[in-house]
Formats: sequence, C-alpha cells, structure tokens
Amino acid sequence: MAILNILKEGDETLKKISRPVTEITDRTKTLLDDMAQTMRRANGVGLAAPQVGVLRRIVVIEVEEGELIELINPEIIKTMGEQTGPEGCLSVPGKQGTVTRPSYVKVRALDRNGVMREYEGEGLLARCFCHEIDHLDGKLYISIATDIEYVD
Ligand code: ZN
Repeated sequence: MAILNILKEGDETLKKISRPVTEITDRTKTLLDDMAQTMRRANGVGLAAPQVGVLRRIVVIEVEEGELIELINPEIIKTMGEQTGPEGCLSVPGKQGTVTRPSYVKVRALDRNGVMREYEGEGLLARCFCHEIDHLDGKLYISIATDIEYVD
C-alpha cells in the first residue's frame, strides 16, 4: 500500500466532476487500499478519489475505527431531517466551517466485488456521505459553509 498525496484547495482537479467506474480492476482495489491508508494516516474520516488526483467516483469512509466503508459509484437515494454542525476536509487543512446536512442519508453503491449495496447513516456518517459525494461532483464544503474559522 502507498500513502497518496492529498490535493489542497486551489487545485483545479478538486473542482472537476468525477466519472463513474465502469470496470472494477486490480487497480481499483489498490486505489481503495491506498485511499484508506492515506485517510487513516491523515486522521481523516473520509476521502474521495479526486482528492488524490483520480477523477473517478470512489470514496472511502471510516467514522468508526475498523468499520471501513468503500463506495464505488455512490448515489444518495434517501435523506431525512437536518443537522447543522462543524465540518472539515483533508483538502482544506487548518479550517473548519458550519454546514447544514441531512441528519439521515441512505446511499447505494458498488463494493469492491461489484456487489450493489445500501448503507444508512445518521449524524457524522450522514454528514460524511454528503461531504464525500460532493467531492465527486467537484464541490468543497467551503462553498456551502455558513462560516469558516481557522483551527490548529
Ligand atoms: Zn473533503
């Protein structure tokens, strides 16, 4: 496995729309492994492929330690409620902002074996699903945050 370079705010790649994965290959699986390792090393809870310079619809999330969620071509199929709270991003170091997201999110995605699965999340996990899938559409949370503050 390898630690990948995480692109930072200002890099044009982060504004681009990622393309769906059409075939899950060994390279896809290596990317998933590398993304998970990169996310953990950076103490993040989510990472999207465009953040490591790959414009493909791939996301890893680990809100609960040891419970890695790998999403290929994810789609939000249901949302409920609303939550407003702090959000940060590995591509926007040193800042956090207040963002309103659904309090419940249901996602459909392929796993690494090409099996279509559904995931439900509340709280932080719901927030992560929205944040990471936004990355696949070239959106950073700072464009929808109501305030941004600098943090250590
Ligand atoms: Zn992010």
